[in-house]
Amino acid sequence: MKVMKFGGSSVGNAEKIRLVASIIKSEAQKTAVAVVLSAMKGITDALILCAESAEKGDLSYKTALGKIAERQRSTFIDLIGPDKEKDAFSSLEQMLFELQEILLGVQMVKECSLRSLDLIVSFGERMNNTVAAAYLRSTGFDAEFVDSRSLVLTDSSYGGAKVDYKESYRRIREKLKEVKGVPIITGFIGSDSQGVTTTLGRNGSDFTASIIAGASGSDVVEIWTDVDGVLSADPRSVKRAFVIPEISYQEAMELSYFGAEVIHPYTMIPAIEKNIPILIKNTLNPSAPGTRIVKDITPHNRPITGIASIKNVALINVEGSGMLGTPGIASRVFGALALAEINVIMISQASSEHSICLVFREVQGRCALEALNRELSEQVKTKRIENFVIREGLEIISVIGENMIGTPGIAGKIFSALGESGISILAIAQGSSERNISFVVDKTDRDKALNTVHDAFLV
Ligand code: ASP
Ligand code: MG
Repeated sequence: MKVMKFGGSSVGNAEKIRLVASIIKSEAQKTAVAVVLSAMKGITDALILCAESAEKGDLSYKTALGKIAERQRSTFIDLIGPDKEKDAFSSLEQMLFELQEILLGVQMVKECSLRSLDLIVSFGERMNNTVAAAYLRSTGFDAEFVDSRSLVLTDSSYGGAKVDYKESYRRIREKLKEVKGVPIITGFIGSDSQGVTTTLGRNGSDFTASIIAGASGSDVVEIWTDVDGVLSADPRSVKRAFVIPEISYQEAMELSYFGAEVIHPYTMIPAIEKNIPILIKNTLNPSAPGTRIVKDITPHNRPITGIASIKNVALINVEGSGMLGTPGIASRVFGALALAEINVIMISQASSEHSICLVFREVQGRCALEALNRELSEQVKTKRIENFVIREGLEIISVIGENMIGTPGIAGKIFSALGESGISILAIAQGSSERNISFVVDKTDRDKALNTVHDAFLV
């Protein structure tokens, strides 16, 4: 069996849904298939905006909602026409009606919790999968809409819920046994033990596909998107970027964690556990081989595999003589940040124990600064720790690859190439896995830094 997941850009309009349907049909002739679809491109963002406007009492959400409804209905009519699949059309109308009522509720109470937001965004996947399944049936192909809220059991951390694999796998296996034809499953959404709708976090449909694959013991998970595979660097900045034919799970995880957009990092979790290969494919260019993500890659002699980057980060240095040989400072720093729910993306500590450098998303920067000031006010007052200064407008660049493990000289080459290009480095971190060397630069140096490293290793 194979699980095929198509992202929002692959199902962005009626024409693309036709293309996706033809790919599904041709695969279904060869093997058993389960399909996972995202919402149509832009719908999740549009739903979030509607919710935010409604919460503020800004009535413009009604116009935006009207546009969403119009897009869903016209896609249905374009694909299926007015006479077929009447049950699916009324189920679409019913969802649009509920969505309108829920947003009206948000507008009235002027409050939209993460829990309500999860319910609101879930309509994107539910509507799209309803339409796609109906379209497939209308062409004489056996397909059934499956709402993953009855399959994927999660905890109640709305906005990014944790999956209970054991129970989810059991439910998925049960369901797949009874589905007639090819299941067309909503990505991204699940429900908690009370049956309340949850989501797996933005771009979570990839993860859903991998959960379905893990449960069903699939031979492969295919992630269909709008690029030819995982690229060696962001092609918008690096003209010579190329599609990497094969990468390891660990490399894929590092690349996606550090900003490569092509696959959600959690997708690798069920795949690793069950040793299921993941294949990245391009819906607009199905004959391209794509990128295979596997446990053991075929050896190659490129010293690095790829370069990823995270935009809009900020850096705070915690330094001062009072830190030298004083145990517990690091734990207080991280404790305070954890309490303030700050996600630290990168850390480096100088071996002098004199400073710890912390990097997080710029939007969390101010909040991090406050948390540190609160926790260490005494040390700052007595000058054992210097005043915290935040530096914004930065970018993390990560150089990733299994071949770096045990190969001396890679870091030296990276930093001397950057030095020769006149790029100044604000912080450096290397994971002890040796699969990743990350550094922070000013965002104005980003493109130059990406090209410098790419040219140094990958041409
Ligand atoms: N529709 C959801 C999002 O935009 C999930 C996904 O596309 O994977 O985040
Ligand atoms: Mg995606």
